[in-house]
Amino acid sequence: MGVFDAMAHYDYGELHLHRDAGSGLQAIVAIHDTRLGPALGGCRCISYPSEEDAIIDALRLARGMTYKAAISGVPHGGGKAVLIKPEGEMDRSAFFRAFGKFVDDLGGHYITAEDSGTSVEDMEIIRTVTKHVTGVRPEHGGSGDPSPFTALGVRRGIEALVKFALDRDDLEGLHVAVQGIGHVGYHLCRQLHERGAQLTVADIDPLKAERAEREFGATVVPLDEIFAVECEVFAPCALGSALNDETIGRLKCRIVAGAANNQLAAPQNGDDLFQRGILYAPDYAINAGGLMNVASEVAGYDAAKVTEQVEGIYDIIWEIAERAKSAMQPTHRVADTIAQEKLSQAG
Ligand code: NAD
Repeated sequence: MGVFDAMAHYDYGELHLHRDAGSGLQAIVAIHDTRLGPALGGCRCISYPSEEDAIIDALRLARGMTYKAAISGVPHGGGKAVLIKPEGEMDRSAFFRAFGKFVDDLGGHYITAEDSGTSVEDMEIIRTVTKHVTGVRPEHGGSGDPSPFTALGVRRGIEALVKFALDRDDLEGLHVAVQGIGHVGYHLCRQLHERGAQLTVADIDPLKAERAEREFGATVVPLDEIFAVECEVFAPCALGSALNDETIGRLKCRIVAGAANNQLAAPQNGDDLFQRGILYAPDYAINAGGLMNVASEVAGYDAAKVTEQVEGIYDIIWEIAERAKSAMQPTHRVADTIAQEKLSQAG
């Protein structure tokens, strides 16, 4: 697919490329939509099989950010940066300074943040050349690790769907199967355990699963068995595409609600969940706590305000479930409709 074809496919008007020979930087900044505010989104630095793959990743991710911000009431558009990781050694300082200058040249149209393959230290380097960066150290106005906020939002989303589908006001005795006990999964397990939920977990890293067993009394199952656990809630908190043609038929839960991005391997898989009567919390709506946290840096970080905003994910998920029920439509399609409505109201 040509670049302009790809832009048309993902509904774009703006894509920026920058090469800095000295540092080896090859950067792509995709700005999907700025009707709600300047584009905000992470900066990924990973290897790609081809330049085309890197561009498609940037386009796909930035569009996702537009929808995530719109549905969450975050006053930002969708953007994402993809930095093609150079082979061999790299001078991180020169590399991220060159990227920071590129971001600065975009004049605040795009604000960057941490993502796969980048760290707070990298954001600190970027900060030396531009103010259009978030995810810096707390002493520089940064909001710190977003995972506890993401976990809080996921827990509130679970509570909303538990009330909606099971008419229960608490999580006491509720069985939740969590796939992936990383940064978000760990905090989610802790919050669920504190509220009396029973946990079953799986992680590729046995130490992480064992920690959940030790600290929260979780039952550990092999990776592949997590899908078939009989439970009220399945929470995918590992990588994308957990919900696919192979796994959906095996689920024995009433609700799917977790932190992972791009949980549906294809939109059709959301329809499959709907057909099976499983209520799905659209990933970009339930996992927006991290975005809310980082976006708050732009206006001046206030942890109490962010917490209140993240708690509100309960209402966002509730509205999606309610509209889906009355329209007899799958929740992932209703979430897209709500996000599109918010975008068209803005301009
Ligand atoms: P992480 O890398 O800390 O955790 C992921 C965990 O999943 C790891 O412990 C890993 O060992 C495990 N894992 C990987 N493959 C697995 C498999 N097949 N089965 C079971 N476990 C597996 O990442 P994280 O920050 O906790 O994020 C988790 C997910 O949530 C990701 O999809 C991420 O994009 C998404 N997300 C994270 C945030 C955030 O604030 N960190 C915000 C929004 C969305």
